[in-house]
Amino acid sequence: MLQKGLLIIVSGPSGAGKGTICKELISRDDSIIVSVSATTRKPRTGEVDGISYHFLTKDRFEALIGENGFLEHACVYDNYYGTPKDFVIEHITAGRNVLLEIDIQGALQVKKKYPEGVFIFVLPPSMKTLKSRIEGRGSETPESLNKRLSSAYSEIELIKNYDYFIVNDTVCHATDLLQAIITAEKCRVDADIEDIVRKFKEEN
Ligand code: 5GP
Repeated sequence: MLQKGLLIIVSGPSGAGKGTICKELISRDDSIIVSVSATTRKPRTGEVDGISYHFLTKDRFEALIGENGFLEHACVYDNYYGTPKDFVIEHITAGRNVLLEIDIQGALQVKKKYPEGVFIFVLPPSMKTLKSRIEGRGSETPESLNKRLSSAYSEIELIKNYDYFIVNDTVCHATDLLQAIITAEKCRVDADIEDIVRKFKEEN
């Protein structure tokens, strides 16, 4: 039987830098497949449909919820975001490692459905850094900035539901840690170990 791939969930408060770390990871390791989320938010400058996100209308998104098309979905800062289910299942079943970069509500839903996933929480070095990172994007109004910061305070409490945490001090160091976690997970003794032992015996 083919060994299933890992489902790696990278999550944390908005502005913690999870997107940047994930991009760096992918540039270092092209064996990891990134799930492209669907969203109802408008594309930002430079974002490409089908690559950055699948940009959908609210009606289309809600229809997909009705068709059970998402592994998880959440309303994040007044827009829907969701992980297309078939894509993830197809790749994991084929033995490929799939990365989800999603918010905390979504990660907790995935944990209920797929507890064997690898749940990683990205923390900013400090709340001050978090604030300046969100401000630096230039896409927030003072009101939405405050909303994101107050959510971050309550979201950090949820770290206890995760398997690992990474403090994003520098992108390079944080990505080193993410790679180390993935390497360790690939070597974990888990449900597939009987299969690995049997194959090892057959070959020797
Ligand atoms: P942004 O609008 O800045 O791209 O993303 C806002 C938040 O939505 C980020 O915290 C991001 O991780 C999260 N997000 C992106 N895709 C998904 C998804 O498929 N599901 C969930 N639950 N959150 C997502």
